[in-house]
Amino acid sequence: MRIVIKIGTSTLAHKTGRINIRRVEELCKVMSDLKNAGNEIILVSSGAIGMGVGKLSLTGKPSDIPTKQAAAAVGQCELMYVYDKLFAEYNHTVAQILITGEDIEYTDRRINFENTIRRLLELNAIPILNENDSIATKEIVIGDNDTLGAIVATTVEADLLIILSDIDGLFTADPHKNKDAVLLRKVNIIDESIESMTDDAGSELGTGGMHTKIGAAKIATEHGIDMVIANGSDPKILYDIVEGKDAGTRFFARKDEKN
Ligand code: GLU
Repeated sequence: MRIVIKIGTSTLAHKTGRINIRRVEELCKVMSDLKNAGNEIILVSSGAIGMGVGKLSLTGKPSDIPTKQAAAAVGQCELMYVYDKLFAEYNHTVAQILITGEDIEYTDRRINFENTIRRLLELNAIPILNENDSIATKEIVIGDNDTLGAIVATTVEADLLIILSDIDGLFTADPHKNKDAVLLRKVNIIDESIESMTDDAGSELGTGGMHTKIGAAKIATEHGIDMVIANGSDPKILYDIVEGKDAGTRFFARKDEKN
C-alpha cells in the first residue's frame, strides 16, 4: 500500500514545544517496520513552528509573522535532524520537501513536485513534507497540514491517508465538553450532520482542528482514498489502521471514485 501519514505537532512535541522523544522514536520504528513490510510511506509532518518555539525558548506560539517564520526555520532543522537520525537506525533514507500553495496551484510546479515524490519512492526513500512556513505568506499559504496531507495523497494516488492527532477520532460532540460524546468508527458519507460535529480550534502549538480534518477527508474520499483519523499517542495504532482493524475513525472512499 502507498500510505500518506500526517503527524500533528501535538503528537510530536510536548506542550513546551520540545520533542517528545519516546513518541517520535516509536513512530519512526513503526513506520520503518511498515515500510519493511512492503508499504510505501510518505510523511507529512507538522512540528516546525512548535519545535522552533521549544528550541528558541519562546513563551508560546508567536503571533507575529517574522517570529513565526523564524521559529519554523529553526524547528524544521530540528525536525529533519531527528527524522534522519531515527529512520537511519532502521536503515531508511529520508528526503525533505517544503512547499507552499503556489507549488500546488501552478500546474508545472505541481508536476515537478509530483515527479520528485514518485522518484523518491522509486529510490526507496521516505519523502517528508511540510509547508514552507518560513516563506509562506497569507497569499500563498496552504495553511494547515491536514489539507496538505490530502493534497499529497491525491497527488501520489495513495491507497490510504492517516491523520495522527491528539484525539481518538471524530466524536458526535466535543469530548472535552460533552461526556456523552461518542466516537464514530466509520463514516461513509460526509454530510451536514458530520460537518456539524466539528469545531475549528487547533492545539496550542499546531494549526488544524477537526474542521480541517473533515475538509481533508472530503478531498481524500472524493478521490477514492480512505482516510483515518486516529490518536498518535500510541504509534502502534498504525499497525491496526493498515490492517483495516477498528482504530480511530475511518472515512470510506466514495465507491464511484475509486482510483
Ligand atoms: N506547518 C506547521 C508546522 O510545521 C504546522 C501546520 C499544522 O499544524 O497544520 O509547524
